Amino acid sequence: ADLYRDVLLDYYRSRSHKGRLEPHDVRGHGVSPICGDEIEITAAREGDRLKRIRYDGHGCVISQASTAMMAEAIEGKPIPEALKLIQAFGDFMVRRGEPQAMPGPLEEAKALEGVRRFPARVKCAMLSWNTLRMALEQGSAEFRENDEVRP
Ligand code: ZN
Repeated sequence: ADLYRDVLLDYYRSRSHKGRLEPHDVRGHGVSPICGDEIEITAAREGDRLKRIRYDGHGCVISQASTAMMAEAIEGKPIPEALKLIQAFGDFMVRRGEPQAMPGPLEEAKALEGVRRFPARVKCAMLSWNTLRMALEQGSAEFRENDEVRP
């Protein structure tokens, strides 16, 4: 029950950043075979800023809610700041950073804290963040989470 906090369900149901931008400057496609999650992220830049970000996909509540949180936190941010937020989220989820260390724009993502006890589900939460990071670095990216789970 701890895995599905109300805030996660709210983000899962949210439509506010759903869709696909055409044209776009950045595109990432990510899959997590261990769970079957799939996500496509498109973003439009304005100079150094991610002016708009949209996503489409399917999968579990955690993967989709985490993507909606990411889109909300990152839309409008300069790319270097977006990359810092992605790093901070990874530090929280994978290296179990303290919730107090989360930057302000990631406040809502603290709701994923309970997921950290389930390594397979951490991949669900990280999928879109890893996909966007690779897409920002390369312009376009195909990202695939590996299907190994280490406790
Ligand atoms: Zn999943």
